Amino acid sequence: MASVFAQPATPPGDTKEQIVQVYALQAGHLTLPERFFVNPASDTARKTVPSLAFLIQHHNTETNETTRILLDLGLRRNVERYPEPIQRHIDTRQPLTTDPDVTKSLAAGGLTPDDIDYVIYSHVHWDHVGEPRDFQRSRFVVGNGALALLSGSSSSLRGSHSFFESDLLPQDRTIELRNPYERDSPEPQSEPVKKPAPGKVDFDRAWTSYGHLPRVLDIFGDLSVLIVDAPGHLPGHINILARTGPTTNVYLAGDACHDRRIMRKERAIGEWHDAEGHICCIHGDKKMAEQTIDRIRELEVNGVEVIFAHDVEWEENERNKGRFFGSS
Ligand SMILES: [Zn+2]
Repeated sequence: MASVFAQPATPPGDTKEQIVQVYALQAGHLTLPERFFVNPASDTARKTVPSLAFLIQHHNTETNETTRILLDLGLRRNVERYPEPIQRHIDTRQPLTTDPDVTKSLAAGGLTPDDIDYVIYSHVHWDHVGEPRDFQRSRFVVGNGALALLSGSSSSLRGSHSFFESDLLPQDRTIELRNPYERDSPEPQSEPVKKPAPGKVDFDRAWTSYGHLPRVLDIFGDLSVLIVDAPGHLPGHINILARTGPTTNVYLAGDACHDRRIMRKERAIGEWHDAEGHICCIHGDKKMAEQTIDRIRELEVNGVEVIFAHDVEWEENERNKGRFFGSS
């Protein structure tokens, strides 16, 4: 395979390829009115799409330790447990189903929420946060800026899809990633860069560049799982690039894109006007969202498999049926 992804996963001299297993998990379906997502679109076109979650399993052969990570929890099983404004918004996303939810999908492969060490949220929109109260042991990881959204101290976003729950996450089990842009600050960092042992998960590592990706976090220190800063959709929006084999990589793109036609440049990102005449977009910053999509497109060109959270084309592809946890 070409490009940066052919480089060895481990330092020279070490022949082991650090790889992880990645499984998709069904975590509900919702229906998107196309005009909010792509342009051009008809006023009435709607598409029912999944809200996928993913299980990532990392095995450290030296310590024999397995770390299990979920990316996103999809839709909440009982939608009545969403706050009132989100429930009203959900009325515009029907038909919507929440069975199986992520917990039931984990059970299909023999796991329970107690087996999950970390829940990473690509972002904190209602259709990705699921039911965190099911995960009483797990730590929650969010991108920089997500906690301000949840607490309500960041309110610049327009559009009815942006409602947040201040009590969503347990404070003592939640990690907010460092600001990926901090290192660009002219102030030199006085503290030395932390270098924890490879193979041990640590979310406090320094952001670095990787290939053409300007900001990634190598959470195991072995290049098997990179958290990727993916700005544009919502503050704190992050993706994951996972090495699944010596020459295979999967990029979990969250809501960086909602429709494959945008990736193929057949459609542009949608925009609409609200009641006051403001221009709205499903992405908080459309320009940055476009740059993020460009980077993802380049990964795909280089042979990386890209999967969006609402990737109905990926879900419906027969070849991917066996990629769901517990399916084989
Ligand atoms: Zn979404």
